[in-house]
Amino acid sequence: MLGFFGIHFFGYPQSLFVHLNRNFKLMAFDHLSPNVSQEEAIKFFKNVVGDRNVLTDPSDLQSWGTDWTRVFEPRPMCIVKPASTEEVSRLLAYCWSNELAVTPSGGRTGLCAGAVATHGEVVINLSRMNRIIDVDAIGLTLTAEAGVTTEALQEAAKSKGLFFPLDLASKGSCQIGGNIATNAGGVKLIRYGGTREQVLGLEVVLANGDVLDMNVALRKNNSGYDLKHLFIGSEGTLGIVTKAVLRLMPKPRNLQLAIMATDEFVKIPEILRKSSLAGVSITAFEFFTEVAHRIVLKHLPGARTPFQELSKFYVLLEVEQPGAEPEIESLLETLFEAGLISDASIATNSTQFKEFWGLRENITESLAAHGQVRKNDISLAIDKLDGFVKSLEALLVTKKPKDMELVLFGHIGDGNLHINYVSPKSRDSQEFHKEARAIEEDVFKLLAKFKGSISAEHGIGLTKKKDLHFTRTPDEVSWMKKTKAVFDPKGILNPGKIFDL
Ligand SMILES: Cc1cc2nc3c(=O)[nH]c(=O)nc-3n(C[C@H](O)[C@H](O)[C@H](O)COP(=O)(O)OP(=O)(O)OC[C@H]3O[C@@H](n4cnc5c(N)ncnc54)[C@H](O)[C@@H]3O)c2cc1C
Repeated sequence: MLGFFGIHFFGYPQSLFVHLNRNFKLMAFDHLSPNVSQEEAIKFFKNVVGDRNVLTDPSDLQSWGTDWTRVFEPRPMCIVKPASTEEVSRLLAYCWSNELAVTPSGGRTGLCAGAVATHGEVVINLSRMNRIIDVDAIGLTLTAEAGVTTEALQEAAKSKGLFFPLDLASKGSCQIGGNIATNAGGVKLIRYGGTREQVLGLEVVLANGDVLDMNVALRKNNSGYDLKHLFIGSEGTLGIVTKAVLRLMPKPRNLQLAIMATDEFVKIPEILRKSSLAGVSITAFEFFTEVAHRIVLKHLPGARTPFQELSKFYVLLEVEQPGAEPEIESLLETLFEAGLISDASIATNSTQFKEFWGLRENITESLAAHGQVRKNDISLAIDKLDGFVKSLEALLVTKKPKDMELVLFGHIGDGNLHINYVSPKSRDSQEFHKEARAIEEDVFKLLAKFKGSISAEHGIGLTKKKDLHFTRTPDEVSWMKKTKAVFDPKGILNPGKIFDL
């Protein structure tokens, strides 16, 4: 499960939901003409996966038909939980023949409503496909079904003295299928790359039920197009991932962790540059602001700051130190001498190590406990970060309502900034989103000038599809649509996500 809060879902009035669900045809997508009744379809699904693995209770539909975003009302037709690739294939072949929309779903920790079913979709959730099939300690690979959680993969690698480097705060709940579908980044991307870099082979069930086996676990394979990359980051719109072969690593040796305080954002890229030049082996370079820190201290039980006084910005630096020399200490001295940091604390034992990481990894959950949140997940070239943040601050002076807080944090070593607009829970939700949206549009325009991306790692889903044009050219979007038409010409897989057909 996720950290300390668990997952919270909307509490929509059930009467409204039941009413809408009975009128399933009314909410179907325009481009699809379902040619079976809801009752017939559910009967078929029960026949494939067993009665108890098809959920139709209103409360189940709400919790399994959504993800971590709290913006769209979930209205799935039903939730179906297959246990094998063959079952996924039968389900999709049926939905294909009968023009039923399908939303693939994993751990439902997504932050852009990619797994939210709003139009009577059949949600196919992969949680029961949670077997680790093989850990190859010689070839350094791990083969698993799509429903295995990221944390379970890490543990399986660890049990063989190895390391699976994908790491994100939602690891206890998110699944490798979801990670692949979103091309998740996480806190170790700076050293090991993101999800794409970890995937050696994939098995995918296509919209018509065909199984596409790209499961060859080779490190080198230049025989034609490498199709698996099309599915990585495709947010469930091209196929359902059922199995993956993943890259493992030797365990990193002797990790050292420090939190540094600094008073100016402009110093952060310089801290990164100096740390890289010092030759230390960086495994994570994360950042958060004083506001983010205060919110975690307020909401995370037992959280403590290592500092006597709070500063405007913090950097969490993790390095691997294979030798005996305490490299991190001499690096911190250099950074002090250069006037880049004002205070720093090194974790001296495993408890402190966890505490320091907790201050960064619990920001998302603490924000959810603190207020209403609208999220942007942007990326920029590192040398453009400071200019962008200065322009952002200037923009907010005129635009930000008084009761809205701006909370910045993120994987800054990758140029990835999470911008969070936060207002009290008592605020009218529609008004809050309207105001935050007005700012967000200006932020994206600014971002386009700085040649950044509106989505660094969370994806597009429903929440950002209208903004795709800020980041991708019309030609790119047109080729994306053509690719979609090749794999899913009827448009049954996750319709409405990334772009409208
Ligand atoms: C506290 C917290 C911290 C987070 N930190 C990070 C972070 O550091 N980096 C990061 O990148 N993300 C982060 N996220 C976002 C989220 O955890 C990732 O996007 C994750 O990869 C989603 O996986 P999931 O299994 O929960 O997918 P879901 O939310 O269930 O689905 C996400 C998308 O993938 C599709 N999908 C799911 N399973 C499959 C499948 N088997 N086949 C095809 N399509 C599928 C869905 O249709 C949807 O479009 C965080 C989220 C939270 C709540």
